Amino acid sequence: MSMRLRTICGPDGEIAAYEMTMDTTRVLIRVRTGRRTQKRIVLRADDGGLSVSAPPFARPKDVADVIAQNWRWIKEAHDRIQASKPKRLRIGDEVVLLGHPYVIASREAGEAALDEGQSTLWIPADQDNVHVRVCTWARAFAREYLTSRAAHWIETTGLSPSYVGVKSQKSRWGSCSSQRRIHLNWRLIHAPVPVVDYVIVHELAHLVHMHHGPAFWQLVERWLPDWQAQRAWLRLHGSELFVLDENADA
Ligand SMILES: [Zn+2]
Repeated sequence: MSMRLRTICGPDGEIAAYEMTMDTTRVLIRVRTGRRTQKRIVLRADDGGLSVSAPPFARPKDVADVIAQNWRWIKEAHDRIQASKPKRLRIGDEVVLLGHPYVIASREAGEAALDEGQSTLWIPADQDNVHVRVCTWARAFAREYLTSRAAHWIETTGLSPSYVGVKSQKSRWGSCSSQRRIHLNWRLIHAPVPVVDYVIVHELAHLVHMHHGPAFWQLVERWLPDWQAQRAWLRLHGSELFVLDENADA
């Protein structure tokens, strides 16, 4: 593998980023302003991409050395960020629904439909925009599935909200208002069923306890003894549920 590193300067002449080229992979590492008290050069990978911050006394050469030494970690973090970015779906791509991967395929006639036996999501062949069709279908499927799953839990628990709706939420999986209205995040449709169940039961339990105290969790546990595993799953994989984006680039 060949590796090259160059600096990219901003209008003021300060180094704005380091560009690392590994074979054909180009990775941009943004320079982040560090804390004044910072003692070490720190690499970070998050939603905003890769970044590095350095103590005030560090020289560009020191930063470059740290980047070069950590190329393997940088490459892995870069690949991970790329893989989790929403992309435009095409025939042959996979979409995960209720924890299972489905291949998007086209067929001559009929509506978009899920074929569980063949792990296929069928899209009518006349659709010129497969990506938008899949996004629209997934939202409708989410509305249908999540409300019927909620109905199942309402019957099982005997807890009845005044309303159950599905909507797009950026940072919550569900909500329950003091007017007993429950909203579920449509993106849950990608999660395994036990995780979906956990969010529904969690919100239903808020109809009894509007807090997260021991009594609340006891109630959740009555129906879902393994709720902790589902909660942990959401914490670990929650960001992966944001894979569908109607405005995604190619
Ligand atoms: Zn809650």
